[in-house]
Amino acid sequence: MNSRPIQKLPMDVIGKIAAGEVVERPAAVVKELVENAIDADATAVTVELTDGGITSIHVSDNGTGIPAGQMKMAFERHATSKLLTAEELFSVHTLGFRGEALASIAAVSRVVCTSKTADAEYGMKAQVEAGRFVDFREAASPVGTTILVKDLFYNAPVRLKFLKKPASEAALVSDYLMRLILSRPDIAFRFASQGKTVYRSTGDGKLETAIYAVYGKEAAQAMRRVSGNFGGVLLNGFVGVQDLSRGNRQQQSFFINGRYFRDDQISRALEGGTEGYVMIGRYPICAMNLTMPYEQVDVNVHPNKL
Ligand code: ADP
Ligand code: MG
Repeated sequence: MNSRPIQKLPMDVIGKIAAGEVVERPAAVVKELVENAIDADATAVTVELTDGGITSIHVSDNGTGIPAGQMKMAFERHATSKLLTAEELFSVHTLGFRGEALASIAAVSRVVCTSKTADAEYGMKAQVEAGRFVDFREAASPVGTTILVKDLFYNAPVRLKFLKKPASEAALVSDYLMRLILSRPDIAFRFASQGKTVYRSTGDGKLETAIYAVYGKEAAQAMRRVSGNFGGVLLNGFVGVQDLSRGNRQQQSFFINGRYFRDDQISRALEGGTEGYVMIGRYPICAMNLTMPYEQVDVNVHPNKL
């Protein structure tokens, strides 16, 4: 039946296939870029979207920057500064370490990356289109990294067709940033969509201030602090009941060791604990941190690592 010979796929096809697994939509691009910024010890991260990220995604940070001599390498597939040995694979606490994000994003968009390290005299600016470097030169830059992703999936029309409307894609990014602000009160985030600021957190390290940034002053004042310690699991956070309750669980944010997760059982526990303070059919809101030994957490329990 199949008379064609077995052939290796061309590199650009391999690149696009791999890219599809890492970046399926703007929110995934934002997540990868923001995680890189956090891994680079940024204390301030800005995310700006145009048309839900389909036209452009702009992420800038004040982290360590990419050394000029490593900028090209950063865009190579399976290139990372975060993992050296196979053993380290099991002990990494950084957020991303597959070394695929920048290569994957650049394979399906037009990327401009500008970066400068503290000890460099100049910054470097690289332009990559569909995985190919089209420009690379010295450029003025503050210390840190700025990545502009334009025309996502312009060379992958099938993927482009799978995207939702810009407003829906922007909402997914907004959700992700809302949870990031709550889980990292120590980082100042700014998120803007279509030129309008959606969230701005101060990075003062206090969960109360992060809640203020997400839910506003009144809600932040009305939410109640909850804390506890059971069998080596530390719990602390804020819960909103009565007028703050919602029609679904969308505003319940749980984090294990700083990582967002979803779980019916813990939502039910929260709802059980707030019975009488929330009307039937309504759900309390919360931002709740659980802290426990890393070894006791298996991120693979949930199919999407959620
Ligand atoms: P990974 O994060 O898995 O290492 P990426 O493709 O996301 O792979 O990034 C490749 C490398 O580029 C990183 O290991 C890091 O050294 C560098 N890098 C990427 N983004 C930044 C950033 N915002 N600040 C500093 N270095 C970065
Ligand atoms: Mg990464």
